[in-house]
Amino acid sequence: MADNIFLEVVTPSKAVVSEEAQIVVAPGSEGEFGVLKGHTTFLTSLKLGSLRYKDSSGQDRVVFISGGFAEVLPNKVTVLAESAERRKDIDVERAKRAKERAEKRLTSAGASDIDFVRAEAALRRAIHRLSIKSLA
Ligand code: ATP
Repeated sequence: MADNIFLEVVTPSKAVVSEEAQIVVAPGSEGEFGVLKGHTTFLTSLKLGSLRYKDSSGQDRVVFISGGFAEVLPNKVTVLAESAERRKDIDVERAKRAKERAEKRLTSAGASDIDFVRAEAALRRAIHRLSIKSLA
């Protein structure tokens, strides 16, 4: 459709989304932003969160994003994410295991600051993946 924009979401290891969208809403580091066709060009960093879009048939789609960058052009949004999965590809058991591992690390005595920061980030990723799966 003429009013669609092209959405591309890639990570260092895979292409996650490559399709037309009616609207894209992304978790910018300064706050969530929405993009329709014709938007002004800009570049922003992204924080961990949900990238939501309406595909060309009007279906709502949700993609987990662990952080990264987005380039917005009038007819295209490109997201370079550290890691990303479509809602349907999120493995709940894997996220639960990651959550348990991170929780154990956070409560284990003697963890270094680096381990603590890493475990906290892993916990936030796991919790957000699980929260996306529990959407109705
Ligand atoms: P894990 O410890 O389970 O690997 P993680 O949060 O450390 O979780 P990431 O570094 O964010 O994982 O991602 C590594 C790769 O694994 C990416 O390709 C990501 O899409 C994928 N991935 C991670 N967790 C899941 C999950 N629960 N379901 C589907 N894919 C996942």
